[in-house]
Amino acid sequence: MQVIWAINQSVLRNHSREEIPYPTFDHCPQCNHFVSMVRHGYYQRHIPEKDKVWELDICRYLCPHCGRTLSLLPWFLLPFFQYPRNTILTALREHFLDGVKTFISRQLLNFYEKRFKRNLSAIILSFRDKGFYEPLSGDIREKAIRLLGWLEYTSPSESIEMIDQRSDHTPVNFMALSLYSKRGLSCKS
Ligand SMILES: [Zn+2]
Repeated sequence: MQVIWAINQSVLRNHSREEIPYPTFDHCPQCNHFVSMVRHGYYQRHIPEKDKVWELDICRYLCPHCGRTLSLLPWFLLPFFQYPRNTILTALREHFLDGVKTFISRQLLNFYEKRFKRNLSAIILSFRDKGFYEPLSGDIREKAIRLLGWLEYTSPSESIEMIDQRSDHTPVNFMALSLYSKRGLSCKS
């Protein structure tokens, strides 16, 4: 399972593992047991940037009760997407503005476009629920550009967001495969 962690990117870039304020969990989100989750090592995510690759440690936790693990995914990444959230938002915006300058491949960009368009209705519903009542254009391109703007100004509503079925995590997981069929459920791992 992955949980979304609202942490500033610069904290992770500029500090060693020992200095990073990893949260503690006194409850397992998978078996619902009140138990201290144990830190369980790291795995590395390779995050492509314009001219380098950032190797980021992703912290894992183990539940001593059910034996399942969870990993703490910084919110500037999207579950199951290699590129960071901002890179994806920027690439999509450039794409919809017809001025593609991104370093992302054409093929990947097409995939992003398809997924984003497919999730558009779920993203709109989620923003409507959060009080974004501004009317949107009927033109899909204009609508997409406006929503990308809203997403750019969205951050997690809590410091830790459990990706589960209980609440709506669409803004932090707007490219999720499951949004199309089931609103509110973001991902499983
Ligand atoms: Zn558990």
